[in-house]
Amino acid sequence: MKLKNKFNKIAFIGMGLINSSLARDLKLNNFSQITSAYSRRVSTIKKIKKLKIVDYVDSNCKKVVKDADLIIVGIPVAAYENIFKDIKSIIKPGAIITDVGSVKNEVIKKISKFIPKNVYFVPGHPIAGTENSGPESGFSGLFKKGWCILTPPNNTNKIAVKTIKNMWELVGMKVDIMNSKHHDEVLALTSHIPHIIAYSIVGTVANLENRIKKEVIKYAASGFRDFTRIAASDPIMWRDIILYNKNSILKMLDFFKKDLSKLENAIKKDEGDFLFSLFSKTRKIRKDIIK
Ligand code: NAP
Repeated sequence: MKLKNKFNKIAFIGMGLINSSLARDLKLNNFSQITSAYSRRVSTIKKIKKLKIVDYVDSNCKKVVKDADLIIVGIPVAAYENIFKDIKSIIKPGAIITDVGSVKNEVIKKISKFIPKNVYFVPGHPIAGTENSGPESGFSGLFKKGWCILTPPNNTNKIAVKTIKNMWELVGMKVDIMNSKHHDEVLALTSHIPHIIAYSIVGTVANLENRIKKEVIKYAASGFRDFTRIAASDPIMWRDIILYNKNSILKMLDFFKKDLSKLENAIKKDEGDFLFSLFSKTRKIRKDIIK
């Protein structure tokens, strides 16, 4: 296999926020001669056609994937299996497949058996996004300065990995390579548990009696407002992420619950020093992230 900087045909499986943003950036960089996209719903297909970000759109995934030398999967992770069952016989020998799914270990386990021997699978996760969905929410520049994590299994062809690394660097990302299990543990803490907390806190308000609920919404200060932005993320996508990364999430949730009860105890006992020391530590983390 030779290192490629350009492709003849890229097939995007799914054209939501992430894949449509990538399609826009790759188009600007002339990364491929032809681009095609699969989407299920007629309404989404219409939107993709109107946006003119790919040359060809269809709800028949086999037609979209035919002759593609790069396939980029950008659909909810629990939907991969059915798609791969459908397309496995049509994937071009020598093609590279990559994905943008937020969970890696379970995805690799579930779909590896459908990848033909002469096809290279390089799993990936661009850490970039917003709470919005659909092709109309995508935009060029989404990936700039973010991190993309690739989690190729040990025996993955090195040139295929380098090709995908180059693609993400082309659209402005920094790339790290990591073991898929490690990726899932890190992301459980940095992304999945914050989403669970947001869903839970906003859910508490949703369950309140109407009068109080209206007041909370009316007087929502920045704290609660920030949680509602996260809790507005796509429910199907997040259901899939949480169930696919169940083990890492439950492990990290255990740590979180222990720390929450320490905080609860400190409040009960009026331990101001504990609160001050914790809030100072967390403030430093925020400063380090901004830096
Ligand atoms: P999105 O905007 O909601 O778009 C989802 C796409 O997947 C649409 O083309 C949709 O087609 C298709 N789809 C949905 N359910 C499907 C199914 N059961 N079978 C086949 N196709 C289906 O999604 P996104 O935010 O781009 O997320 C895509 C992937 O990127 C997910 O795996 C997610 O974990 C990952 N990711 C997301 C973010 C983020 O911030 N959003 C960040 C990093 C990674 P129709 O509209 O035609 O149904």
